[in-house]
Amino acid sequence: MWKTILDLIFPINCLGCGQPGDFICFNCFEKIPLNTEPPLNNLLIVSYYQSPLIKQLIHRYKYDFVKSLVRPLGTLMAKKLTQQNIKDLILVPIPLHPKRLRWRGFNQAQELSLVISKKLNIPIINNLLIRKKHTLPQAKIDNLKQRRVNIKDSFQINSSFKDNLKNKNIILIDDISTTGATIEECTKILKSLKPKAVYGLVIAKG
Ligand SMILES: [Zn+2]
Repeated sequence: MWKTILDLIFPINCLGCGQPGDFICFNCFEKIPLNTEPPLNNLLIVSYYQSPLIKQLIHRYKYDFVKSLVRPLGTLMAKKLTQQNIKDLILVPIPLHPKRLRWRGFNQAQELSLVISKKLNIPIINNLLIRKKHTLPQAKIDNLKQRRVNIKDSFQINSSFKDNLKNKNIILIDDISTTGATIEECTKILKSLKPKAVYGLVIAKG
């Protein structure tokens, strides 16, 4: 709240170079390092959490609720997805539990999906996955094993969903992936719909 008020009083500066105007200027946006390594376990990672600029962009978007950052971040994700040259795509944002959604006010993965969808003209299915368990945020848990236990059986397929996804490649969208446990769990559940493949797409791993 305090930060939002400050943003109104003081001009916005680029998180990269300090130039007034936007949270990220064109030059700094173009300089964001893109991860070109081949994906491991179908997880597409756009950039590096070690990049101070990416880290700041994610933090301000996710934890300070600077919603306008969805555009540069979503644009980066769209860029990465285009490079993969995968056809017949469907975007599925990782859902938040209704309790967390009420607290946050927006689902950051869903907003990113909207940007990617508009840029690349790919359909989104928002209600395909349902989060049935209110879990601790994965970021609050230290090790992979605990995270897997925490997230297990947290999701289910929406029973009202009847479309055939047999010829589709599902792209699961999240902001960051720490251990990959959430994407892994959702992938497992979505595979019951027998799509061509399921991929994860995140801004960074960190
Ligand atoms: Zn800049």
